[in-house]
Amino acid sequence: MRLVTFKRCGEDREQVGVWTDGGVVPASALGLEFDSMNDLILRATPDDMAALRAAKAEPIPMDRVELQAPIPRPMQDVLCLGLNYTEHAEEAFGYSSQAFTSDKASPIFFSKRVNWCPGTGMPIPAHADLTQRLDFENELAVILSKDALNVKPDEAADYIFGYTIVNDVSARDLQTTHKQWYFGKSLDGFNPMGPCITTADAIAFPPCLDISTTLNGELRQNSNTRMLIHGIAEIIATLTRGMTLKAGTIIATGTPKGVLMGMENPVFLKKGDVVACRIEGIGELVNTVE
Ligand code: MG
Repeated sequence: MRLVTFKRCGEDREQVGVWTDGGVVPASALGLEFDSMNDLILRATPDDMAALRAAKAEPIPMDRVELQAPIPRPMQDVLCLGLNYTEHAEEAFGYSSQAFTSDKASPIFFSKRVNWCPGTGMPIPAHADLTQRLDFENELAVILSKDALNVKPDEAADYIFGYTIVNDVSARDLQTTHKQWYFGKSLDGFNPMGPCITTADAIAFPPCLDISTTLNGELRQNSNTRMLIHGIAEIIATLTRGMTLKAGTIIATGTPKGVLMGMENPVFLKKGDVVACRIEGIGELVNTVE
């Protein structure tokens, strides 16, 4: 099932619903009232989820809704993996692939401040006064369904609500200047998310999904999430050793090779550039730099 946050065209109110072939079925049309996707993740019962899955109500056609990010306002900072695809680690820092195979290093964790996420079709602010090295990172993001502590790898799948696409937009010059990734990845609008959450039941675990990105129509990233150095079960098991992850936590699992900073003569994002992030089974997240 694909869950969305949306507004009816001409209305300001955000609603949650199910994205079906015919359009969006609002949860409210099924007799379910949720304030937001966060509220749905925290409160939906198995019966509610079954009703959403059945989606027995008239859908609103897609040309009459504006999709928002599925979780427009995350409850906490988004957790992120750094250098979690071998070829990206090589392009980013010249790390030898050997370091990630026979005796692989521990996962690199950091976080992003995200007050509000643009949805698909919404602009990425260029922040041209602050950065001249704006870059994209297409990533599979995992959303937790319940509080998680000391989770064993073979139990990790039970904690996943669903998956979405996150573009971990990054100001490379700020990352370098401040010696730490937090600020350079946390400017307003730097976490486009969408187009939907595909619930965990619809994707076999661990997810082996094609992931690709185009910049102005040119293919830049092309991989599969089975290439993650640290898989989702390991990520959840490692992060919950002594640290509780709350329901609704969003974990961006890292980006494959093909970001702009990996180019020999990088040309970074500029106003008007269109970044399209695709992941099999979830869809397409398209944003223009403005
Ligand atoms: Mg990233």
